[in-house]
Amino acid sequence: MSSEVINTSTNFNDLGLAEPILRAINDAGYTTPTPIQAKAIPQVLSGGDLLAGAQTGTGKTAGFTLPILHILSQKPVTDLSKGRPRCLMLTPTRELAAQIEESVKTYGKYLPLTSTVIFGGVNINPQISRLRKPLDILVATPGRLLDLMSQNCVSLANIEILVLDEADRMLDMGFLRDIKKILAALPKQRQNLLFSATFSTEIKALADGLLNSPALIEVARSNSTNEAIAQLIHPVDRNQKHPLLAHLIKSNQWQQVLVFTRTKHGANKLVTQLEKDGITAMAIHGNKSQSARTKALAEFKDGKITVLVATDIAARGIDIDQLPHVVNYDL
Ligand code: AMP
Repeated sequence: MSSEVINTSTNFNDLGLAEPILRAINDAGYTTPTPIQAKAIPQVLSGGDLLAGAQTGTGKTAGFTLPILHILSQKPVTDLSKGRPRCLMLTPTRELAAQIEESVKTYGKYLPLTSTVIFGGVNINPQISRLRKPLDILVATPGRLLDLMSQNCVSLANIEILVLDEADRMLDMGFLRDIKKILAALPKQRQNLLFSATFSTEIKALADGLLNSPALIEVARSNSTNEAIAQLIHPVDRNQKHPLLAHLIKSNQWQQVLVFTRTKHGANKLVTQLEKDGITAMAIHGNKSQSARTKALAEFKDGKITVLVATDIAARGIDIDQLPHVVNYDL
């Protein structure tokens, strides 16, 4: 691995992105690139590989999506046949995959590029039908992608750009073997971008095998956000935790509370307890169907339920604007 010095820029107009992309950025209301965007966009546009240390909340999704949209829109398409995407974005969870593809659609709305998202836990048939049509960008979780590859519904032979998003989480969730199988199906000549919040030995090994003289960029979560967050610890006996939480929610009139529990069982139990107190709550975790998870998240974002109880894994990387209260229930 080698690192290079990268120039940073503070204005979207200076980054060399095509006009339709700048228009979409303007529609989204973004005025200045975040630090990861200022660093990543020129690097990706240059065609080089990238190893980026960045967490959710830094704007990393736009950091890779914007330049990829630019590259794909500039290069003539050689093979528009079905099920042969030009860019693959791999990410660990269904929620992240859906969020990324939403960003692709948002930033690419003035471009003639097409995208879709595939993940497990939902009916595979609509995904198979979609893959029969031409496709530029495929956002996927590893398991379902392998499933569709084994059924010959998708070919990775035309991939020009690969993104591994939240690579550390993918390894935490046991996706290394799946990722290796997917990498083996990619053409040798391609651009690789790896995003990870942490750099363990495993991530370094993966990066070493995957990336070609990558530029290395690392950004911290924006400090302004951290300073704006007040953190409180309430030491309390186990059997007092639920009454205390209900009391805090009611007496402070909290309207939107995300609660993390350690286990799926603990999440379900807390939901039942809160509902007995007249507090609307839903749980998201791996045992829930995808439609139940999507519904719970949508209702929580819309303010229809007060409390969303999530296991850490299920909630990783979920982006909720201006979330007012987060409770770590099993610290
Ligand atoms: P991410 O870290 O990619 O999950 O993005 C976190 C949030 O930041 C998302 O809600 C984005 O819509 C938002 N965002 C991304 N880039 C910018 C920007 N340049 N200015 C303002 N908000 C942004």
